[in-house]
Amino acid sequence: MRKAYTFRLYPTKKQEEKLCWTLNRCRELYNAALSERRDAYRMAGKSISSYEQKRDLPEIKEIRPEYNDIHSQVLQDVLLRLQRAFDRFFERVKNGEKPGYPRFQGRNRYSSFTYPQSGFSLEEKHLTLSKIGTLKVKVHRTIEGAIKTCTIKHESGQWYVIFSCEVKQPEPLPVSYEDVGIDLGITHFAALSNGDFIDSPRHYRQAEKKLKKLQEALSRKKRGSHRRKRAVQAIAKAHRKVRNQRRDFAHKASHQLVQRYQTIVLEELQTKNLLRRPKPKQDEEAGQYLPNGAAAKGGLNKSITDAGWGMFTEMLRVKAAWAGRVVAFVDPKYTSQVCSGCGTVKPKTLEERWHSCECGCELDRDTNAARNILKKYIGAGSALQILPRGESVEAPAF
Ligand SMILES: [Zn+2]
Repeated sequence: MRKAYTFRLYPTKKQEEKLCWTLNRCRELYNAALSERRDAYRMAGKSISSYEQKRDLPEIKEIRPEYNDIHSQVLQDVLLRLQRAFDRFFERVKNGEKPGYPRFQGRNRYSSFTYPQSGFSLEEKHLTLSKIGTLKVKVHRTIEGAIKTCTIKHESGQWYVIFSCEVKQPEPLPVSYEDVGIDLGITHFAALSNGDFIDSPRHYRQAEKKLKKLQEALSRKKRGSHRRKRAVQAIAKAHRKVRNQRRDFAHKASHQLVQRYQTIVLEELQTKNLLRRPKPKQDEEAGQYLPNGAAAKGGLNKSITDAGWGMFTEMLRVKAAWAGRVVAFVDPKYTSQVCSGCGTVKPKTLEERWHSCECGCELDRDTNAARNILKKYIGAGSALQILPRGESVEAPAF
């Protein structure tokens, strides 16, 4: 099983030049190899494999001696990447999908190179790369397992190293006798059927103001100017921060849930519907989404994407599989409208935060929903069941 670790690199100015240079040579090789394969096919109907191209590497080094300054496996990996791009292309052709022929890589698209086996070593705060040197690295968490590959990545002005590690599948956790239903929401990130809440750090909101300011600043900068380039980088940085915080939170929350509960039940998210909106416009330079007139729904969208439900459920699923726990999904119909105590329908608007029923059931709206979600799954055939499974019910009049 593979696990990836990403750490920030702090190259010196000189090292950064070397990294950029290496990246550009790799990109050049990629484009040349692509061009060769394309021409061979166009002119002679012949396909060239990455194996054949690898055999040509020594010759390339004779004509272009500067390629001797790049670790040979890094160059081989470039050709392998192209091979994979072709494999995916042929796969799409086979499946009758839109094929998308492998593309030539521009300066901004080609952003990494890989040491697939050797040529690198890590010692505490230092990463030594063959033909490049020893770079400062911030290893902010412990690496498990053996490092298999080392990828150097350039992203919005910063450098990272990504280690892909081979880890042993962990032992499944002992069986827990506690199950839980979870309602993912906006007021709270998650409401649990036992009355607990998990609150999302609202990083995005805080960062949003800053981001908005940065975006306004960007619009005042002249296209192609140095200042504009800097503004674009600042925006990318703000986004990256939010993204990292969100991922950390999802990791922690999903870990805790999997540790404690045997069966975790969620609603099948119709995020696609919830998130439907006019196609966003993308700023080509910044790669960020621009306002597109969907402001009203955008607010809700922001909250939803902010909460990062999709990432969270995916992590939950993966962690549960590793731990021998179960993650189940139920139909979200009526989960917030039905009373989890007696089963009567209690219509509510989106603003009503409290569930109050004649049967004496007094609960937070989302807790009530979480209880219903759990019951929908474990309650099949029991008295707890709210709606018989598989039976379609007329929508209540409200
Ligand atoms: Zn009731």
